[in-house]
Amino acid sequence: MTTNINQIDFKKSLSGEEIAFLIGCSGANSKALREMAGQKAIELRGSKVWFRGLIEFSNVCIKDCFYCGIRKSNTKVPRYNLDDEAIIQAARYAFENRYGSVVLQSGERIDNKFIDRIDQLIKKIKEISDNKIGITLSLGEQTKETYQKWFNSGAHRYLLRIETTSKELYQKLHPVNKLHSFERRLEALKALKEIGYQTGSGVMVGLPSQTISDLANDLLFLKEFDIDMVGMGPYIEHEDTPLAKSSQSAYTQEERLHMTLNMIATLRLMMPDINIAASTALQAIDPMGREKAIKCGANIIMPNITPATERKNYQLYNNKPCIDESADDCLSCLQMRIAFTGRETGLGEWGDSLHFFKKQKNEQLKR
Ligand code: SAM
Ligand code: SF4
Repeated sequence: MTTNINQIDFKKSLSGEEIAFLIGCSGANSKALREMAGQKAIELRGSKVWFRGLIEFSNVCIKDCFYCGIRKSNTKVPRYNLDDEAIIQAARYAFENRYGSVVLQSGERIDNKFIDRIDQLIKKIKEISDNKIGITLSLGEQTKETYQKWFNSGAHRYLLRIETTSKELYQKLHPVNKLHSFERRLEALKALKEIGYQTGSGVMVGLPSQTISDLANDLLFLKEFDIDMVGMGPYIEHEDTPLAKSSQSAYTQEERLHMTLNMIATLRLMMPDINIAASTALQAIDPMGREKAIKCGANIIMPNITPATERKNYQLYNNKPCIDESADDCLSCLQMRIAFTGRETGLGEWGDSLHFFKKQKNEQLKR
């Protein structure tokens, strides 16, 4: 049984038992883990942290995930859908401020009007930035044809969290029907990879009835799936959701923060060349949560550039930070925060996942 980090040989693949030890460790073990991971990130990628300007353009969603504040059945949320001009303006802001990339994120919709609109927006964002802005999408589960269409129009990264790799837990977090099936989510992830997107996934940490062993399996899944990018964050209750009303998390918010940071550090050591985001939810628990994640090996930050008027209606969980800020406040505050961690901002660069290109090269060599 592992009782000390010095017993672990990081040159070998970590076992489930070792990963579980690392996720749950504290004190000197946790300090050593995080320092090692922070150094590993710099060794491989240099000291840069890259920006993805996050545009949360609509909270309209056809799904009913039990944990999410903008789920379809939450009638307390005023629904919004930014017009094209507001979205393009946010993308232009990102371009002019040398963010390098934007993320288009929203609730899930699968109708043709939505699919065509996204397609046009991708083309337009490419056009106004002279093809210089990288586009990441985070628009949930779609058909392979839709993913392909958006890829052909210029999106090159996609984020789709698996949320948890325990099917049993997944079914407790979602209604059991076709629209919320674990298998469908997995198929969607596979389709993204086959098309050639830099594929991102991740999980929520500290969900009710989630165990450390579940979290260890999550990290093993990300490694096995050969993921290119990861966004993991603490689960945070939203008062108007069935999950918050019916089940309590076994973990305090402090514990969720601690486990998330250990997860980031462990994954950085397991997959040194992937991109790992410092998620906004970390900041909802600890004002310095994202800076701590950077010190543990994260290398991506997603400043919110959604127009301030609508931010309050994209509350996935209680206490979401920066909902009253303008994009400018966020840029200057983030630059200061990154400098504080001793790292620099990779302005004007895409900061793609090195792992993705290494995989591509290996596949070419095999042919
Ligand atoms: N609708 C798309 C989807 O579900 O993939 C993209 C937007 S969704 C709001 C983005 C992520 O928010 C989800 O993958 C989920 O992990 C996270 N999220 C939702 N509710 C949350 C909560 N209560 N606490 C922490 N993260 C949450
Ligand atoms: Fe909709 Fe995504 Fe929230 Fe689920 S997590 S309810 S798909 S926005």
